[in-house]
Amino acid sequence: MPELPEVEGVVRDLAPLMEGRTIKQLSVSDTVVTSKSAGKETIIKGKTVEDFLHDMEQMQIQRIVRRSKYIYFHLQKHNQPHLLVSHLGMTGAWFVVESPDEITEEKFRKHAHIFLEMEDGGLLIYSDIRRFGEMRLLQSEEDFPPLLEMAPEPFSEVALEHFLTLAESAKYKGKPIKEVIMDGKVISGCGNIYATEALFHMSIHPGRKTERISRKRKIQLFEEIVRVLQESIDAGGSTISDYRSVNGNAGTMQNRLHMYGKKVCTACGKPTRSIQIAGRSSVYCPACQK
Ligand SMILES: [Zn+2]
Repeated sequence: MPELPEVEGVVRDLAPLMEGRTIKQLSVSDTVVTSKSAGKETIIKGKTVEDFLHDMEQMQIQRIVRRSKYIYFHLQKHNQPHLLVSHLGMTGAWFVVESPDEITEEKFRKHAHIFLEMEDGGLLIYSDIRRFGEMRLLQSEEDFPPLLEMAPEPFSEVALEHFLTLAESAKYKGKPIKEVIMDGKVISGCGNIYATEALFHMSIHPGRKTERISRKRKIQLFEEIVRVLQESIDAGGSTISDYRSVNGNAGTMQNRLHMYGKKVCTACGKPTRSIQIAGRSSVYCPACQK
């Protein structure tokens, strides 16, 4: 599943290619049309296919930015601002191409679902193999309250204070630390991969109660999360399964992971263990992490 560094990679690829361009018209796959008309919310959320296609026409793409694990397309039409919020789900990917044949991997070509034809020629295509991705066309963030509840960006100056305040609050202090750092209201964009890595580097057991970690160690853990996220951004993200950047490239962070997906501890050589925390499998080393 794409996490913050992978989404950052997509945005850095997309922005220089797409900013300033205007959408002429759109189309969607038969799969989306069929499942939307059966009443499902496949990819396009909160709008019918007809309304989505109509409303997106003639939008100019002003800016493309990342917010947590979302891609924000800041759009404008008739001098009115709009916001297209894209979440890649498990297997979503954006491709900038002249024709769909240019998507080299068959699985992404076969599962191309949304086609944005640009006024100056060329296509912006959204593919999604498992179709867990989401796209929402809003006036602004205020139209979709969960976006307003997200923690500040982890690289912002206020993120640490926000994390400490919540981690020490009655709601969170009794919970396992891994559950707390993976909660998007506490820290933005720290998913299973980077939570697993940061806890391993800090020798903290993922199930340890948050209140049993000193403030000093909490600060170090937060700094470690930020460091791991930055390392992954620099490495182009990790390609665990079906993440692809806009030009179809894979990242290399998976070669730098020390605990996520490991059967044997990379520090001490003992077998790792896996437990369920908040519904997610959590790999750790029982010898190194207490
Ligand atoms: Zn170990």
